[in-house]
Amino acid sequence: MATKDSPLSLEYLLEATRDLRNALDLEAYLQLVAEAASELTDSEASSILVADESGNNLRFVAAPRIQWNVMKSLDVPVEGSIAGRVYSSGNPEIILTAKRDKKHFKNIDSMTGVETQSMAAVPIIFKGEKIGVFEVVNRSGGKDFSEEDVAILEILAAEAAVLLYNDRLENQVVSAREKIAKLDRMKSDFTAIASHELRTPLGLILGHATFLREMVDPELAEQVDTIIRAASKLKDIIEDLSNVDNFQTGMATLRTRIFSVSRLIFELIDSYQADAKSKKITIQTNLHKPIDLSIDGDVEKISIALSNLIKNAIMFTNEGGHVFVQVEQVPGYVKLSVIDDGIGIPAADLARIFERFYQVESHLTRKHGGMGLGLSVSKVMVEMHGGRIWAESVEGKGSNFTIMLPMNLAQVKAAQKVLNS
Ligand code: ADP
Repeated sequence: MATKDSPLSLEYLLEATRDLRNALDLEAYLQLVAEAASELTDSEASSILVADESGNNLRFVAAPRIQWNVMKSLDVPVEGSIAGRVYSSGNPEIILTAKRDKKHFKNIDSMTGVETQSMAAVPIIFKGEKIGVFEVVNRSGGKDFSEEDVAILEILAAEAAVLLYNDRLENQVVSAREKIAKLDRMKSDFTAIASHELRTPLGLILGHATFLREMVDPELAEQVDTIIRAASKLKDIIEDLSNVDNFQTGMATLRTRIFSVSRLIFELIDSYQADAKSKKITIQTNLHKPIDLSIDGDVEKISIALSNLIKNAIMFTNEGGHVFVQVEQVPGYVKLSVIDDGIGIPAADLARIFERFYQVESHLTRKHGGMGLGLSVSKVMVEMHGGRIWAESVEGKGSNFTIMLPMNLAQVKAAQKVLNS
């Protein structure tokens, strides 16, 4: 066996570090690094310690195999140990007589049964972040550790640092994901409870206001209309919130039947005619009359998806503008486009407008209402049908939102099954 005294020691160091990269997991890898360190420095034992989250204790992540069971559960305090001093200072140390160093953490000796005579320790640092300490103890034959031993340790510590740093990042990602999932569950619970609790009183307000509308004198009718409009808007917001959430929590289901797309388009255009007129916007379609164009889908959901596009087109088009609803049949699909000559969407925002709560203007400064949910709801509804939705837009010129819906849902489902199997 070649040791550091061998003229081949550099070659062995290279070979050792090359072999290390074949280790299967982090634990096995660190064990190999520690063993390579013992071998190359001709020492009795070697170990790697990593700081815990608090930064107050170091824990063994590699140690001689026979002592591993004892050492893996041992906490070495940063304050009160040689390893801790090396970790804190970031400077390597050679300790010739560990026993006499007041900082020597004697618990380890008593628990492992190995009396520490001499020691060399280097900090494990990556990208300026302190990670832990790499140490070797008891050079064979009672000899002292040298600067060369420290150099070997530093090379191996740099190897270990990369993997330990990656491991730390991976753990941070996992715990961030867990936190996000927990927050998401809390948000879903809140949305479900809030929308359920709001729906009942809102239903009462709308019901009674509609009843009053029939009873009151014309001069009061306008005020009651305002109540009805505001309550309906609130109802839409609550529906949007629970629609997006239901889909994300897998609660949404499709109630499909064959329905006429062209009839739906005419109904929707009719229902938005008054809003459009109030802004002197014309709203038209390429269909002259309902045609025989039916699809298999959930009419409520497709209606919501299209309504949101038409509502936005009117909202983001200036007075005197135009909104056009185009219906085309392409093989296997119906292509529905809502085109406006309104304010358009800046290129930088276009990719994000289908995200939940995304709005081009800041919520606090914008002129328009809404919560940035409409398009995400439309996307959800369309994708539930195996369809696609996208937008093209030029700022200052207008926007074109397109929905592609498969005509035959059964076919889409069968195709998806084959793809997933
Ligand atoms: P909101 O309900 O707040 O309007 P949406 O999800 O429906 O939210 O839309 C997100 C954002 O996309 C809007 O705030 C708006 O800035 C932009 N947007 C949507 N449709 C249009 C459109 N037809 N023209 C211009 N901007 C639009």
